[in-house]
Amino acid sequence: MRVHVAGNVCIDTTFRLDRFPQAGETRNAMSHADGLGGKGANQAVAAARTGAPVTLWAATGRDAEAARIRAGLAGEVDMLRLTNFDLPTDRSTIAVDAGGENLIISGVSCAAAFKPLYHSDIGDEVGRGDIVVMQGNLDEEATADCLREANRKGARTILNASPLPKDTYPDFSSVDFLIVNEGEAQAISSFSNLKDAAAELTHLGAMNVIVTLGARGCLLLRRGSKPVSIPAPPVTAVDTSGAGDVLCGTFAGCLAKGASVASALEIAMRTAAIAVTRNGTLASCPSRQELIDLMK
Ligand code: ATP
Repeated sequence: MRVHVAGNVCIDTTFRLDRFPQAGETRNAMSHADGLGGKGANQAVAAARTGAPVTLWAATGRDAEAARIRAGLAGEVDMLRLTNFDLPTDRSTIAVDAGGENLIISGVSCAAAFKPLYHSDIGDEVGRGDIVVMQGNLDEEATADCLREANRKGARTILNASPLPKDTYPDFSSVDFLIVNEGEAQAISSFSNLKDAAAELTHLGAMNVIVTLGARGCLLLRRGSKPVSIPAPPVTAVDTSGAGDVLCGTFAGCLAKGASVASALEIAMRTAAIAVTRNGTLASCPSRQELIDLMK
């Protein structure tokens, strides 16, 4: 069983500052560094580190950043299917202040243009039993089409609906696992009570809903069952960015390796708990060896 992640990739430039500049102000950073990013890339790498075969379907430009992304991901996922557009490769500028708060500006030209079923062979390559993972960065209609096609072919689908859909009324009828954080669950469902929110998401079509709750863990609702709260392992968090991506990718990888839903989620939560004890997004994701040890 293969994991197909269709999503966005980008180069992140992170600036560390004492405080954010105000409008019209220029402020020197204390440090800056480039890294690979994008929710699609993050989730594909986390899935691949479980040892599952992973194809990442994404789009870049034809520039130097595209070459860096290709080189950076080549050693991580075993199949890299990048569509090239005559557009600048997507970039995010991330500013982190002394208190750890962040501001992010993302250029998403390639992600907005990328329609996986139209620009790639994903429709032909996904097979019965595979896992297809998508997020909220690609065109909403293209995402819905791709999930529908995957579902039709007998693949299991995971949608991490982040960022939230803006235009369309969400229809999750092709989604086997909808993964959202607390704020997203409340925003889509209009319920503040999480159990009601999760129930509403199943009414919108999702077979299973996982609401991530940061240090409080997750709420899992399987259609026809009662919601179950799963506590996160207690850790001292230093940087929680990307925890959701680590959880989604690891969950997908474990499912592809044959784990039950409960056990895949438990391993994914243990992996995310390790990630929050480290700095960075992709950089905080446990290594392949660490994941193999966790899965024993
Ligand atoms: P991000 O956008 O930063 O990637 P998110 O908002 O999508 O995160 P969260 O709910 O913050 O997702 O975190 C995802 C999962 O990571 C949680 O369900 C939990 O399992 C784990 N996690 C996050 N923060 C902590 C923490 N402080 N301690 C232990 N586990 C954590």
